Formats: sequence, C-alpha cells, structure tokens
Amino acid sequence: MSDLYNKKPSMIIVYSTVWCPDCKRAKQFFGEQRVAYANVDIEKDTKAMEFVKEINNGMRVVPTIIFPDGEIMTEPSNAELAAKLGLQTKAQRAYYDAIVIGSGPAGLTAAFYMAREGLETLVIEKGGIGGQVGITQVLDNFPGFDEGIPGDEFAKRLERQARRFGVEILQAQSVEEVSQEEQYICVTTSDGTSYGAKAVLLATGASYRRMNIPGEAGLIGTNVHFCATCDGAFYKDKKVLVIGGGNSGFEEGLFLTKFASQVDIVEFMPEVKASQILQDKVARMKNMSVTVNHAIKELRGENELKAIILEDRTTGEKKEWDHDGVFVFIGLTPNSELIKDKAESDKWGFIKTDKMMSTMPGVFAAGDVRVGSTKQAASAAGEGATAALMIREYLNSLGD
Ligand SMILES: Cc1cc2nc3c(=O)[nH]c(=O)nc-3n(C[C@H](O)[C@H](O)[C@H](O)COP(=O)(O)OP(=O)(O)OC[C@H]3O[C@@H](n4cnc5c(N)ncnc54)[C@H](O)[C@@H]3O)c2cc1C
Repeated sequence: MSDLYNKKPSMIIVYSTVWCPDCKRAKQFFGEQRVAYANVDIEKDTKAMEFVKEINNGMRVVPTIIFPDGEIMTEPSNAELAAKLGLQTKAQRAYYDAIVIGSGPAGLTAAFYMAREGLETLVIEKGGIGGQVGITQVLDNFPGFDEGIPGDEFAKRLERQARRFGVEILQAQSVEEVSQEEQYICVTTSDGTSYGAKAVLLATGASYRRMNIPGEAGLIGTNVHFCATCDGAFYKDKKVLVIGGGNSGFEEGLFLTKFASQVDIVEFMPEVKASQILQDKVARMKNMSVTVNHAIKELRGENELKAIILEDRTTGEKKEWDHDGVFVFIGLTPNSELIKDKAESDKWGFIKTDKMMSTMPGVFAAGDVRVGSTKQAASAAGEGATAALMIREYLNSLGD
C-alpha cells in the first residue's frame, strides 16, 4: 500500500496489534460509523513498527492512528474519535416533542414526518446513519428506485431528507436507558446525558444472532463477522465459511466471492431455506459449496481463527475445518433491551404494539424491532411514517 509509512495518507491508517483492546475498540468504532480505514499489524511489519516508534519518540504505542490531514492520534477514546470525525454527540436542547432512537429507514422516516409538521425531533444513533440499509450493497426493491440504489447512497439521501426538515441527529451515542418520569419520557445516552420528550420512538432494528459457542466471542471483529459488505474485503484470496443457509447466508456468500477464493456455506438443518434462485446461483459457482445438517461446535484460536470444529448431525462424526474467517447469518435478535422489562414483547423480544404504541405509554416502536414487522426497508419506512402519525395523534390527545 503506497500510503504506508506516510504522515499524510489518503485514508485513515490504524497501526495496531491483534492483542490490543484499544485497537479493537478504535477499529470497531470506525466500523460502526462506517468510516473507511486501513489496518496495519505492526507485529507483522517491522517497517511499520519502526514508523510507529519514530512517530511516538521511540515508543511502541498502539493504536496509532494517522488521518489524511496529517493529525496523529495515539490511544484515542471514542469521544475523541467522534470529535475528530466531526460527529454531533450532544443535543442542542434538553427537551423535545419526540425522540427517535435509531436512524434506520423507520427512525429517519418517522423523524422527518414529525419535523415536517413542526415537532421538535431528535434522533439518537449509535452506529452509522441509515441503519442496516447503510450496509446493504444494493437496495433493489425499494419503490421508486427502478434500477436499484446502493445502500450507502440511500442512507445518505435519507439523512439529507431528514436534515432538510430540521431533524437533529446525534451520532456515536448509544441510548442506555428509557424511563418514565411523570409526564415525560427520559432517554439517557452513553455519555450520561439525559433528554426528555413527550413521546419516544424505538426504531432500533434487529441484529444478527450469534452462535453462542465456545471461541466465538473472542474472535468477533477479527475472524468472526456478521456483515460481508463491511468485512469481506479482509479475505482477499482466502477461504471463508458462511454459517446459515437462508437468503442472507446465500446472498452474503455470493457477495464474498468477490474477495475470497473459496466460500463454503454450512446449514444446521437437513435442508437450506434460501430461495431457489439463490440456490441455483450458488450451484453455478465453482468456488462455493453447501453442506447441510452440520452443527458448528467450537471456534479455536486466541486472536486468530485456527480451526472450526463441527459435527455431522447425521453420523455424529466430528470434523475440523480450516477456514480463514467465519460469517454468521443465522437470524435476527430485536434490539429491544431498552424497554424489555417495561413493555410487552413476544418470546423473541420483538415489541408488541397497538397503533404503533408499546404497552409503555408514550413509547412507540416501528420497523424491525416491532412484532409483525416484515424485515424489509420499504416496510420499515412505512412503519416509520405510520408511527409519526400515531405519535402526532398521541401528542394531540395529551392536549398541551
Ligand atoms: C446486509 C443486509 C441486506 C439487506 N438487504 C435488503 C434489501 O435488499 N431490501 C430490503 O427491503 N431490506 C433489506 N435488508 C433489511 C433492511 O435493511 C431492514 O429491514 C431495515 O433497515 C430495518 O429498518 P429499521 O429502521 O427498523 O432498523 P435498522 O435499519 O436496523 O436501524 C436501527 C438503527 O438503530 C440503531 N440503534 C440500535 N440500538 C440503539 C441504541 N440503543 N441507541 C442508539 N441507536 C441504536 C442501530 O445502530 C441502527 O442504525 C437488508 C439488511 C441487511 C443487514
């Protein structure tokens, strides 16, 4: 890479080691905010190690992060990184008509519907603006985009539309608590700030489910991934394993062939659930395979995946595979912990609603986090619009 050892690189460069937790945190921060960066493991590159020492007066400090404007940050906190990226992390007011948690299609649509009607609306987002659509390669089925639209472009448009109507958006802030305080709802963010609102919309979406097997947690972010668009490029000419034989597993597996030399898919059940079109596409790929009725039992390796232990559920035979990385697509868990004990949900944790309001008065839910949602961008946007109208009705009913 020509940018290496350059004090004014064309993109952000993170000089790191695999064992350093602050390196992992900083890389995770950039990943969550969908900011492109290049990573250099200084223990695998002696020249990079010398370069880091030269910058840090002879000390081997990681992470050392160099930005295109020449600024160097060593061991920065997430707040310092957010400030460097110019993200707004504090709101202008303490009190809003409505606070929306999550900036996916549900959250942003609801927000601009409300702001357009003159309601003071704050959106709080912990990751990249646009939610899951922001990491979608191409959104092919959103009405009005007859030729499809790249997910990141769609997310940018949604953001611009929301800002045009005066929506205020906080970034790199996770909402940690939602509580009822007399007539208003109190929302507390990760930096400890609390904001009040008459109504709150939970538009927090859903996340990919983990396998919860030994070795998985320690390898998340290094060789265990949940987003091919985000992390596929790390596997150029390598061998990866996709876990899950549904549409996501097949789609993401096909996407991974852009980088990886071999993509294998493994499914727990005796049959895959992906659509026939996707199955046919995968069957035509020379560098893909599908194995059914196998359970992943363990991932071995400290900081690097060394072996995948799986079991053939037909014969009980134990096997050891040696893929370089694992991509997991085994279903979704709703991001509903914020009101888990305060509002009713179904057995998976999806929020139950009536006219989009949860059983916690003043707290609404829309999009993938809601019971009955269809896990589609267009329906999430539609639910956002409906929630906005229901919130307006609710605020009118409060009579102030
Ligand atoms: C790889 C991929 C491809 C897809 N492809 C398509 C497709 O082609 N067509 C289609 O229709 N759909 C597609 N989907 C599904 C679609 O993107 C989702 O259905 C849709 O984004 C759901 O919208 P949402 O607003 O409910 O939630 P999300 O988009 O999930 O947004 C929720 C947001 O809330 C934020 N959040 C969560 N908790 C907190 C918290 N505590 N504090 C602050 N912020 C929080 C999250 O960071 C996230 O940004 C795809 C999804 C993925 C992952």
